Order: sequence, then C-alpha cells, then structure tokens
Amino acid sequence: MDQPLNVTPGRDIHLADFDPDFNDGIDREKAEQETRYHCEKLDGLAYRLFAEAKRAVVVVLQGIDTSGKDGTIRMLASGVSPQCLDVKSFKAPSSVELSHDFLWRVHTAVPPHGKIGIFNRSHYEDVVVVRVRKLVPKNVWQGRYAQINAFEKLLNEGGLTFVKCFLHISKDEQRERLADRLQDPQKQWKLGPSDLEDRRLWGDFTKAYEDALTECNTEHSPWHIVPANRKWYRNLVVARLVRQSLERLDPQFPRFDSSLLSQLE
Ligand code: AMP
Ligand code: MG
Repeated sequence: MDQPLNVTPGRDIHLADFDPDFNDGIDREKAEQETRYHCEKLDGLAYRLFAEAKRAVVVVLQGIDTSGKDGTIRMLASGVSPQCLDVKSFKAPSSVELSHDFLWRVHTAVPPHGKIGIFNRSHYEDVVVVRVRKLVPKNVWQGRYAQINAFEKLLNEGGLTFVKCFLHISKDEQRERLADRLQDPQKQWKLGPSDLEDRRLWGDFTKAYEDALTECNTEHSPWHIVPANRKWYRNLVVARLVRQSLERLDPQFPRFDSSLLSQLE
C-alpha cells in the first residue's frame, strides 16, 4: 500500500483521504534506524548550510493538540548541531504582537541565512484557531490565505525553503494521548481546559485545517500530510522530508582562499 504525502496544488484536500495510521509496512525498529540515518545526513547538510550562509530553511509544524509537534522537534534537534537551528514556538499573540499585522511576529522569527528554523505552530494559527474561535471576522481570515501565499513567496524568492508538515492524527488517537497526559504527572502541565474544549471543536478544526492546507498548498511551498498516529513513523517521514529538501538545496562550503596557507607562521 502506498499513500502520497502531497496533493497537487489547486486540488481540494480532504483529511479523511489520508490514513493517520499509515506506516508503509515498516516496523518500529527499522523506522527508528532509518530516522537515525536521515538525522546523521541532516547534521552534515545543516553544517554546510550554516557554512554557506546564503539560504535558510523553515520546518513548519502544524497539527491539532497532541499531534506530536514537541516530539518532532526533539527528534530533529537530537540530530542537528544547535548552532544550526532556530526553534520558535508561537503562542496566543501578546498585546504588542496584536498591535501589528499577523505576519509581523512570524517575519521576525524567520531564521537568518545559514539556519534551519523550526516553527512549533506558525502563521497558520491565524487561519485555523483564529477562525474556529472566531477571534477575527470571516472576511479577515479569508483574506489571509492570499496574504500567506504572497508572504511565503517573498521569503522563498529570498532564498528560504519552507518544509510545511501537517501532523495528522485521528480523533481516537487524540483521546488516548489526552488521557495519557491527564494521568502522567510529567505531562499534566501541558494540558489546560482549552485543550479539552478544542477537542469538542474537532470538526471545526478539521474543516479549518482542510481549507488552510488547500488554499496554501503552493508549488513553491507545498504542504506535506504526515501520518502521525505512530510517533516513530511520523519521525521517519519528517526526518526524510527535511533531509530531502536540504539535499535539493545542496549547500556548498565557501571557496577556500589558499593564499591563507602561506600566511600561517
Ligand atoms: P501550546 O502549543 O500547547 O503551547 O499552545 C499554544 C496555544 O496558543 C494554542 O492553543 C494555540 O492555538 C494558541 N495560538 C497560537 N497562535 C495563535 C494565534 N495567532 N491566535 C490565537 N491563538 C494562538
Ligand atoms: Mg496545547
């Protein structure tokens, strides 16, 4: 069985068409082994990107609560030197952030050339939670799809590659993960009443995500729908995606000035 990670830009994305349990017939041990291999390659590629310092990458992680954004970041960060990474978590906007346009805080978080940024949530909250929670009127969030596409195009033309990952879990899986968090003293802090409320709005979140994924699935910055019910398969898919995008960039060490050799006393 095969399941694509992408949908052709312009086509509607229906999450029901994607199996969150999909694991390509691979077992956990093999998946973890392959993930480690991709991370090793990624470390070398990230170091070259850092040395080249001409382009950057942003891994956007979106998904419903408990979909595994934190775990994915732990996996990526375990493989890559911290100086090559910029991790940014987007929370509900502060009053200062709200006094600017919605992309202001995102633009300031974009990594400089040479780095891989990881966004734990992103500007997509401004067309998902903002819509579900009715924080701005419909005409405002509707206009944002085109604004996001223009923003991502601007950054892309300036040398930034987006790797946009939607971590796709099922409603049953979320129930298990929430129950686990409610019972585990080391995870309880992650939960608030709004998380349980958000679960009741599962259908609204699904619709808002489907529209955001459909409207902002562009040639230059496509969405990847990552089967995420199994954490080890999710890690494998994201590690491979990030490695592949860096391989396409093929960053190069700057040319060495050989006259330096003769200057060493
Ligand atoms: P967590 O990721 O669990 O730390 O939660 C962060 C919370 O901030 C989530 O409930 C998000 O929906 C919320 N959030 C992030 N960005 C925005 C935004 N632009 N507007 C409103 N809420 C947001
Ligand atoms: Mg949360």
